[in-house]
Amino acid sequence: MSYSIAIDGPAGAGKSTIARIVAKKAGCIYVDTGAMYRAMALYLLRRGIPAEDEEAVSAACGQACITLDHEAGEQVVYLNGENVNGLIRTQEVGDMASVTSRYSELRKNIVLTQQKLAQDKDVIMDGRDIGTCVLPNATVKIYLTASVEVRAQRRYRELLQKGENCNLDSVTEEIRERDHRDMTREVSPLVQAKDAVLVDTSDMDIDQAVEAILAVCRRKGCPFNA
Ligand code: C5P
Repeated sequence: MSYSIAIDGPAGAGKSTIARIVAKKAGCIYVDTGAMYRAMALYLLRRGIPAEDEEAVSAACGQACITLDHEAGEQVVYLNGENVNGLIRTQEVGDMASVTSRYSELRKNIVLTQQKLAQDKDVIMDGRDIGTCVLPNATVKIYLTASVEVRAQRRYRELLQKGENCNLDSVTEEIRERDHRDMTREVSPLVQAKDAVLVDTSDMDIDQAVEAILAVCRRKGCPFNA
């Protein structure tokens, strides 16, 4: 029997960093679902489709085939057969994904692809709606969060390291805006699933957060020895 670990939470909580380490320790596949919404956003940007035009977005998204593969332990996202891993991590693509991911037509095929992936493989999947919509019967559900201030600090440091010019106030404001959009949208909003375990990483380092998640997995009977 395969198992699945669902990790949901707001931007900057450390989901992808932590889930990637847990996947290595547990020996399962890490699925970053945000990358699929980002790949779709890239497609819409390239086509010049306005984010606010739901009709145009819904008509166009059927022409974008988004698939995932795993090569040397790393996830690769394909947009109509093109590897777009290196193109989807920009602020522009992230903003487009955050705005357009609220349309139900856009989410339909992406969610189906994610569900198929988890059908016959052990996975740890992170996103916003994994425990609530994509894998409602996941073996383990985690809601990973941290205070807005801590998430903004982390993001700010990350941007400085990349050599980007930014200030803490505007990074904080962007995080607040994204939280608001993700949590208040009508379709699949970001909420903690009733049966999810809350892990607040505000006062934890990465190792502590990984250990907290592994402890929940052991408690829920995930069959691995990490
Ligand atoms: O996690 P990441 O920042 O890469 O996700 C980009 C955007 O995609 C999020 O702001 C969110 O709006 C959307 N998303 C979603 N459902 C998911 C994963 C991401 O709506 N499962």
